[in-house]
Amino acid sequence: MKLNDFRQYGHEMIDWMADFLENVEKLPVKSKAAPGDIYRRLPGHAPEAAESMDAIFRDFRELILPGMTHWQSPRFFAYFPANASYPSVLAEMLTATLGAQCMIWETSPAAAELEEKMMHWLREMLDLPAHFEGCIHDTASTATLIALLTARERATNFGSNASGFTADPPLRVYASTQTHSSIDKAVKIAGLGAENLVKVGVDEAFAMDPAALRQAVEADLAQGLRPCCVVATLGTTSSTAIDPLADIAAIARQYGLWLHVDAAYAGTALLLPEMRWMSRGMQHADSFVFNPHKWMFTNFDCSVYFVKDKELLIRTFEILPEYLKTQADAQVNNYRDWGIALGRRFRALKLWFVIRSFGLQGLQQRLRNHLQWARNQQQRIQAHPHFEIMAPMPLNLLCFRFHPPEVQDIAQLNALNEQLLHLLNDSGQAYFTHTKLNGNYVIRWVMGQTYLEERHVLQAWELLQQKAAELHSKV
Ligand SMILES: *Cc1c(COP(=O)(O)O)cnc(C)c1O
Repeated sequence: MKLNDFRQYGHEMIDWMADFLENVEKLPVKSKAAPGDIYRRLPGHAPEAAESMDAIFRDFRELILPGMTHWQSPRFFAYFPANASYPSVLAEMLTATLGAQCMIWETSPAAAELEEKMMHWLREMLDLPAHFEGCIHDTASTATLIALLTARERATNFGSNASGFTADPPLRVYASTQTHSSIDKAVKIAGLGAENLVKVGVDEAFAMDPAALRQAVEADLAQGLRPCCVVATLGTTSSTAIDPLADIAAIARQYGLWLHVDAAYAGTALLLPEMRWMSRGMQHADSFVFNPHKWMFTNFDCSVYFVKDKELLIRTFEILPEYLKTQADAQVNNYRDWGIALGRRFRALKLWFVIRSFGLQGLQQRLRNHLQWARNQQQRIQAHPHFEIMAPMPLNLLCFRFHPPEVQDIAQLNALNEQLLHLLNDSGQAYFTHTKLNGNYVIRWVMGQTYLEERHVLQAWELLQQKAAELHSKV
């Protein structure tokens, strides 16, 4: 490919991208591809000779696109969103063009210093404690692993890094039964052992019960085990339950536990002063993670991780081979020492573009719209005799199920809702996912996609009633 072709196809693809985003809501949201469909249609061998960009781009449109699920569709109500936005996409193009490897300050000073500035902007925007410092990672899973490794090193006085971790006595980690699977994974990878993750019970709102946490810690101490870390979740993945941070922080302080706050999705809501009741107690947190790549309109991947004590963090991860030493080391942040990977993408650029292009008020307005539309929909569900709300809704994730009065058997109700979910998703007009709460099959409806308007919510509500009525006529 020649520079002139790059220029020509670049223009063409930008036009394609704008057309795509203009029309994405008309495409089936969930891909209809069956397992193996795409793989079978791809050539078995890499091409010997160069191929034209025309041919490559045509195959992208004809082969790849139909196999994509459209996360940027405003009819995407599944999981949590992975929101992109126009300024974020443009910044990603520039990042790819610069192609910089931002492992240390010297390998691109602007990348390191923009990242530092973005972290300070975000700290202020979310009203986080002034002593928080941190950097950007790929995912919350990585950040949580970093938190557990740092907690482990603090608990063993950096002995595990030096001599390997010997679980004598075992270090114990506490999280609620509703916690994200990334905690289970991190406990395994950090060498703490899955058996040492204690799942603490929740209240009727699916939030951690602090009394149960205290009991679990006391029971472990009585057995000679070593309580090490507690993970509090702001916005659980099943139902966005908010663990009572201030109460958990008090227990963490009393027993010397590392307090990690997983706010992967809900952290973005701290942009709103009226949502900051969630972060009461945050000044005692040792670490905090949230994903702008979920609800803050910033392309995946972008996960922001703050710590109270950056010296502990750096002591856990620092390495200093001769070939990475530079003159500036004493005066700058070398983020390779703040986490696992050496190589780092220039992720701060898209945050800078997003924050400046939306403005704080623009971000807040969109979040408030999402929250309001979700409350409006909650009322419509409440008012309908055949639907019921299955969990409190502190944010914009509505957990509900179809419940016609004549169906009372739980297995039958679960099967009915599973059928409804498939009918909805197969229609191509919306995409929902499910969870189980207290054994009940529950449909999750997240109203937080970048391009969402209230008309999409209303259309999905029509679809929902129509599909439920179809099912009902067969019950
Ligand atoms: C999505 C989510 C995660 C995992 O996020 P990744 O960035 O994909 O690792 C962790 N915790 C919670 C509460 C989440 O919602």
